Amino acid sequence: MVAIHSSNETLTAGERTSGKTFYIETFGCQMNAHDSEKVAGTLLHSGYRQVDTPEAAGLVVYNTCSIRDKAEQKVFHRLDHFKRAAGKGKVFAVIGCVAQQEGERIFEKAPHVSLVAGSASYTRLPEMLAQLEAGARRVTGLDLDNGEAFDTPFTRRDNPHRAYITIIEGCDKSCAYCVVPFTRGPERSRTSESVLREAETLAGAGYTEIQLLGQNVNSYRDPSPAGWDFATLLDRVGRIPGIRRVRFTTSHPRDFVKGIVEAIDANPALCNHVHLPVQSGSSRVLARMQRLYTRDEYMRRIDWMKSARRNISITTDIIVGFPGETEQDFQATLDLLGEVEYDSLFAFKYSPRPNTSALTMEDKVPEEEKTRRIMILLEKQRAIQIRRNSELIGTIEETMVESRNEALNQWIGRTSQNRTLNFTHSGSAEALIGKYLPVMVTRAGPNSLVGESTMSVV
Ligand code: SAM
Ligand code: SF4
Repeated sequence: MVAIHSSNETLTAGERTSGKTFYIETFGCQMNAHDSEKVAGTLLHSGYRQVDTPEAAGLVVYNTCSIRDKAEQKVFHRLDHFKRAAGKGKVFAVIGCVAQQEGERIFEKAPHVSLVAGSASYTRLPEMLAQLEAGARRVTGLDLDNGEAFDTPFTRRDNPHRAYITIIEGCDKSCAYCVVPFTRGPERSRTSESVLREAETLAGAGYTEIQLLGQNVNSYRDPSPAGWDFATLLDRVGRIPGIRRVRFTTSHPRDFVKGIVEAIDANPALCNHVHLPVQSGSSRVLARMQRLYTRDEYMRRIDWMKSARRNISITTDIIVGFPGETEQDFQATLDLLGEVEYDSLFAFKYSPRPNTSALTMEDKVPEEEKTRRIMILLEKQRAIQIRRNSELIGTIEETMVESRNEALNQWIGRTSQNRTLNFTHSGSAEALIGKYLPVMVTRAGPNSLVGESTMSVV
């Protein structure tokens, strides 16, 4: 056996993992959150026990994000904290996008790390853990294309009512700013049969809400002979008895077809919310970003949703300060916000990422200018959200109860449109959490609604 740490010669990797406790911290998107549920499930199945703090754990797992530089730096801060005495006796694993992107360089930056694995290698996790337990000093899983999705029966889910299901992994697009094709590999869709089986099992276990996940869910192509597209899969998941809500994220505008809006109109279990990242309101910037659609093509998709029978809530992602973005381009993005009237958005300052084609583009926008633009954009969006949310005052919204705020004597719920609705009701926690209630909206803020419910669970 090979000794694992020069700072602690007496312990081998096998001895370090023999306590078999693990702590996992997740950075980044819902895909990562769900990957962590699968990794945790796999560890529990391999005899590990989950603990709440890294201090109490034998194995410390960081599931990382590298979408922007700030996200990437977080994991190295965490690892720095354990560099010396605090890390003694522990095995450190760095998994996810930073692991895939940095590979073995992580061992140079943080020599106390023993396992580095990207998401395409999680199917090999039990084997990698066995190598660590057998005393291996350093184990890597960095293959990008194994042709498989990480489909494990051992998922340990964080929420007892809402469950994530990955339907497609990786990305075949090549947006000029984005690391995802490099960190998550090419697109791999799961068979419709395995997705439906998982959804039926979840419904049988009492889950009522399913969230279908993928970098681009609407690029989904059933690899089995059935050959379903995304709209068909969405509709079929929404028809499973017991499933009351189906959400999906994220959609790419280029692959967003009218059939998805028609499916939402036809099937009330499909939530009336679509997250459709636009990134910029300027066709010139969109072309430089290699987004594969123009502003007009994007707006056509918005028109489909606005002319739907159901009131579909629309949200988006925006990047400000992409190389070459002029004041005029930025104005086009502000105009687009006014035209679409998004219910919410995520705005990011462009962050240069390794391997991406935008890295070498000229006309970089200075950091202070990016900050100025994002502040203007967020202010404009705040006013839009106050107006949009106020329109709901007096309406009754079906709300799934998620938690309770004792201090405010309020329940916290979510509407089909994915809005947070805080409300009063006399019921007990056992009776309400996870249930669906009609709630009257009485007030509105920029980020949430307030309401009251006297009605019983439906
Ligand atoms: N696949 C989704 C799509 O194409 O819309 C987006 C996935 S990405 C994980 C989430 C968001 O991060 C993107 O929509 C984009 O707004 C933002 N993002 C990605 N790379 C970025 C970068 N280099 N700088 C700033 N924001 C970035
Ligand atoms: Fe990144 Fe573009 Fe793929 Fe989305 S579509 S994950 S932004 S490369």
